[in-house]
Amino acid sequence: MSEHTSQVAIITGASRGIGAAIAERLANDGFAVVINYSGNAAPAEQLVRKIEASGGKAITAQADVSDPDAVARMFESAEAAFGRIDVLVNNAGILKTIALAETSDEEFDRHFAINTKGTFNALREAAKRLQNGGRIVNFSSTTLALNMPGYAVYNGTKAAVEAFTQVFAKELRGRDITVNAVAPGPIATDLFLNGKSDELIAQFSKMPPLERLGQPSDIASVVAFLVGPDAGWINGEIIRANGGLA
Ligand code: NAP
Repeated sequence: MSEHTSQVAIITGASRGIGAAIAERLANDGFAVVINYSGNAAPAEQLVRKIEASGGKAITAQADVSDPDAVARMFESAEAAFGRIDVLVNNAGILKTIALAETSDEEFDRHFAINTKGTFNALREAAKRLQNGGRIVNFSSTTLALNMPGYAVYNGTKAAVEAFTQVFAKELRGRDITVNAVAPGPIATDLFLNGKSDELIAQFSKMPPLERLGQPSDIASVVAFLVGPDAGWINGEIIRANGGLA
């Protein structure tokens, strides 16, 4: 078995999309995985069964990451099931592209509650509960480098996540825990595809010099590297993974 056997990873927002691919990849790499979701229990449970069928260990943990008590319970259920926590992947996130001037108070608050406060809630809990030598991976976005109309609030939530990443890496001095962020370009998931015309999707696909959309597995590979032994000297970095788009 792999060197990660007996290590435990929590992946937020792992019922679908990039998070599901990360959970599957880390389970293949030997981690016991905690598959967090907010509303969609069925795909999360299906993923647990798939991982178990190939000899891995996984549980689901329902928690809205914007709720600090729910996040604390998620960490408790990980410890109850597997006895320790080594890795946190703060992947849960939402995106609604809308001009700043059209954005309602509710939409603004929802984005910051999930993308920013959700990341903060899990980081604060991780500081208490992660094993020394652990790894944290946050999620930003390449949209931060593109400044496209419609992304002001979303980019604002991710700029804060990048700030948390760089400071928290230093605050964990002495624990041998690395904190990095991945900033994907367009990835073929519900978050990116929903609400876009075929034409717009084709336009985005042509933007990277590699001339395709990213797949969830492209990002899962980066996360697997960051939480593995070969990335031990990478700390406080924002890694853009976007096929050369920006
Ligand atoms: P997705 O396909 O929409 O999946 C989102 C996941 O997050 C789902 O598992 C969902 O759970 C979960 N989630 C949503 N709100 C939550 C909450 N309040 N608490 C806990 N979980 C919650 O999204 P994705 O494309 O995989 O995106 C994953 C991350 O990558 C996000 O942080 C996103 O900003 C970032 N990103 C994505 C792209 C892209 O092009 N796709 C590009 C750059 C960055 P349910 O199934 O229960 O709703």
